Amino acid sequence: MTPWKEEDNIPLLLLAAELHRQRVSRSTNAILETIGVSKSFGGLKALDDVSVSISRGELLGIAGPNGSGKSTLFNVMTNIPYGPSSGEVVLDGERIDRMPAHGIAARGLVRTFQKDAEFPDLSARQTVAVSAVYGARLRRAAALSAAAERLEDLGFDMDRVDRPTTELSVYERKQTMIASALVMNPKILLLDEPASGLTKPEIESLDRLLIQVNRNGVTIVLIEHVLSLLLSVAERLVVLNHGRVLTDGKPEEVIRDPGVVEAYLGKRAG
Ligand code: ADP
Ligand code: MG
Repeated sequence: MTPWKEEDNIPLLLLAAELHRQRVSRSTNAILETIGVSKSFGGLKALDDVSVSISRGELLGIAGPNGSGKSTLFNVMTNIPYGPSSGEVVLDGERIDRMPAHGIAARGLVRTFQKDAEFPDLSARQTVAVSAVYGARLRRAAALSAAAERLEDLGFDMDRVDRPTTELSVYERKQTMIASALVMNPKILLLDEPASGLTKPEIESLDRLLIQVNRNGVTIVLIEHVLSLLLSVAERLVVLNHGRVLTDGKPEEVIRDPGVVEAYLGKRAG
């Protein structure tokens, strides 16, 4: 009898792993999952055993009071600037929590930041093109035309596309920020409080924009501190409080949850 070699089993193991992956993603249809994710800063647990599953094509809202761990959740999902202290992050069946940030972005998980980064000397078109060069590896000419296309898709006033970003309105800077993310061709877009600083009509425009992007096939996870903004766009809401998942469900049910009311308004509002 020939001795058993571990290599003989590798094709079988790969097949088993692939079948398992297909079974998992078929049964849950999850595109992104955190499994028991925690993040500590010294003695503070910014995230404490957070398990969230995001379905392909979904527009998921994440709410929670200030300091509840919303931005930290995006940080540990994207490894920008840090990964989780413990737990797993799974993108399309693949563990990404030990992967460098650029590898995660290249696999289609792209985020924006709460404070929109800008390059003061660049125009909107150039800002988006920088993202296309670094995030989608396009050359200069291709990046500039992809940038213009993304901005136009988002309804950007193309007469203003070559103005420095410092001369743009807050809403135009948000459009620039979202176009910079979309030019990287994400499967999932993570948006951290994109509505901050906008007027009510601008927020309504942003809502329509996000629904449009989502209908075009991009899964969206939207963090907003203001619950009412989420209610108009989110299909499902996850509420964080003190780094833990407080509730996860249909928006209309979540807002009636006494725990959510208390987290937002304090005990007396109960
Ligand atoms: P949210 O986005 O929900 O307002 P954050 O995720 O930014 O909340 O923060 C959650 C908690 O973690 C807060 O108490 C915050 O002060 C703390 N925190 C976040 N980042 C750091 C850090 N780099 N160092 C220490 N504490 C942090
Ligand atoms: Mg935040």
